[in-house]
Amino acid sequence: ERDLLMIPGPVEFDPEVMRALGARTLSHLDPVFIATFGRALQRLREVCLAPSAQPFIVAGTGTLAMELAVANLVEPGDRALVVNTGYFSDRMALILSRHGAEVTQVRAPVGETPSPEAVAQALAQGPYQVMTVTHVDTSTGVRAPAEALVRAAHRQGVLSVVDGVCATAGETFHQDAWGADVYLTGSQKALGVPPGLALLTVSPRALAAWRARKHPVRSFYADWAEWLPIMEAYEAAKPAYFATPAVNLITALEVSLGQILREGMEARFARHRHMARAFRAAWRALGLKSLPTSEAATAHTLSALYYPDGVDASLVGRVRGQGVVLAGGLHPELKTRYFRVGHMNLVGPGEVLATVGAVERALIAAGHRVPPGAAVSAAQAALVDSA
Ligand code: PMP
Repeated sequence: ERDLLMIPGPVEFDPEVMRALGARTLSHLDPVFIATFGRALQRLREVCLAPSAQPFIVAGTGTLAMELAVANLVEPGDRALVVNTGYFSDRMALILSRHGAEVTQVRAPVGETPSPEAVAQALAQGPYQVMTVTHVDTSTGVRAPAEALVRAAHRQGVLSVVDGVCATAGETFHQDAWGADVYLTGSQKALGVPPGLALLTVSPRALAAWRARKHPVRSFYADWAEWLPIMEAYEAAKPAYFATPAVNLITALEVSLGQILREGMEARFARHRHMARAFRAAWRALGLKSLPTSEAATAHTLSALYYPDGVDASLVGRVRGQGVVLAGGLHPELKTRYFRVGHMNLVGPGEVLATVGAVERALIAAGHRVPPGAAVSAAQAALVDSA
């Protein structure tokens, strides 16, 4: 009766986080909440490995986080380069256009990512104001080579905006060391908090570019000019108001970020890699083909897998019947041909084996011929191999 939620967000959340979410709502000006918000901002900086960045935490979803980046960094007529790896890169291009940018896209076939060389070449045809990258595209399970792309933009003096909604706190990302200008995310995936928060960390360079704008930001709610004094005030333990913060979500976020930092960022990235490796071993044992065409471009936060011959999209319902909730496809052209398994936040050996077992049983029930236990055994072998 309580299915295991293994979609690429929202994911399973820690009970301590859920208790914080359900606590009595304090005034947003209560000293206790002000201190909590201040700690959440500091912790977000640590999670993004961005000691020099300005964090923003705003009520909204990942899409708002995208808009909070674009609305402030782009003016009508500015050129923007989108490294496109799927549905959420398409969305970034739409948001950029809406804010008046002239958008150029670098694409690769579905399941691949444009190479850093191709992106560097495109950047050289600038000048571009911003380059955007979807760290992990949730529609395809493709992970972009974020470090190389961000460094290429930096070399050209182009601001880099990285969409980490399906990656932050799950995939290795060193914002300061790599020189990324904006890392943006939502609460509901590897950050381990129910949906409803837009988060971003902004480099001093991006703040300077925003301060040098010729025209005011056209969005009211997304204008950093409104939010920056609020974030600064909360970090300085002073009351301030622009729009009512999501008190309970921020309280839960402070708890989750504390858990994440106690685990340690490198340990957390390594756990996500280890669990992803176990899933990949299981999918191979089941003869399932992954959408990403190379291991280097395969995310550690989700799997995107084609249905095998003779099996259709009813598989997702069958897996649910086995106690695990998976997601269907999202890529516009391939929607009905594949499914997705999220593996973020709390995912450990128990979740891997439960999920692989459920997929294996459902596939066998659907007529796919595999020996029972082969996938579970392959996952188990990868789990005990700590290399
Ligand atoms: N970017 C990526 C990579 C995502 O996966 C998502 C959500 N799945 C979004 C942006 C948009 O986030 P939201 O649905 O919270 O608005």
